[in-house]
Amino acid sequence: MHQPSTDAAVQVTGLVKRYGEKTAVAGLDLTAARGEVTAVLGPNGAGKTTTVEVCEGYRRPDAGTVRVLGRDPRADAAELRPRVGVMLQSGGVYPTARAGEMLRHIARLHARPLDVVALVERLGLGSCGRTPYRRLSGGQQQRLALAMAVVGRPELVFLDEPTAGLDPQARHATWELIRELRADGVSVVLTTHHMDEAEQLSDRVVIIDGGRPVVDGTPEELCRGGAENTMRFTGRPGLDLGSLLKALPPETAALELSPGSYRISGEINPELLATVTTWCAQNGVLPDQMTVERRTLEDVFLELTGRELRS
Ligand code: ATP
Repeated sequence: MHQPSTDAAVQVTGLVKRYGEKTAVAGLDLTAARGEVTAVLGPNGAGKTTTVEVCEGYRRPDAGTVRVLGRDPRADAAELRPRVGVMLQSGGVYPTARAGEMLRHIARLHARPLDVVALVERLGLGSCGRTPYRRLSGGQQQRLALAMAVVGRPELVFLDEPTAGLDPQARHATWELIRELRADGVSVVLTTHHMDEAEQLSDRVVIIDGGRPVVDGTPEELCRGGAENTMRFTGRPGLDLGSLLKALPPETAALELSPGSYRISGEINPELLATVTTWCAQNGVLPDQMTVERRTLEDVFLELTGRELRS
């Protein structure tokens, strides 16, 4: 689980954040290593945005410590500002300012900014340079926020739900940009509730729920080394999974995900497949849509919390 590090890009220890009666973050430990992409994954309301906003220095923690590039995000805000890029879910922008002006303005504040024209083109914002912020579409505002976060070539960038609401093309352009940031040695902390995004982009995933860490590791570790370890099939609802499990090796698990939709996890090998189909034959079940696949982060979340990630 959590391993404190003195040289992390972000080190959060025992973070607690309350809004009145509501505890949004309830004792969170999180480490983001330098030069890596760390995804904070969790369902709506898990406390992702709150955690990131504390790391960005926008919110004061009620308990715990937060270190960003070894500094305190509030006490050392002036020192961190040129070194850390921040993409907010909304706000922080003058509604009448033009997209291009804003980007050029931020670029001028930094010693080694990215090429603004190239950045604008690759994020599909080429036609919006003279458009006031409030007239941009939601997706354009989102991409502009990303551009503003990275144009200063920061050492660390926080991206809060960077692809929320984007069409597939813009989503992939965003993924590419994040991969390039990583290749340039930039540390990236991103929040998402898309498990495929976390799987595709991150070196390390921290899954949180109800303001607490559920598990963390590399996507490979969490999905068990890439082995084929999940089998799914559909059949009639309410099958006696206890009787099926008696026929299977002890470390195998079986779950009815939704009525008539079954998932078996463990080491899925040809013998196990044969045992399942034999059991189905003996019980008059025609297993439909049978697939064998890797466990996904969605499965990991479901196993650990008993709930779906996309709640
Ligand atoms: P989402 O994916 O929906 O953005 P999240 O994981 O980022 O969710 P947070 O936005 O950090 O979660 O919210 C965590 C909890 O704190 C939620 O229950 C939310 O309703 C509550 N919360 C967040 N901001 C405030 C606020 N300013 N005042 C009161 N409650 C808040």
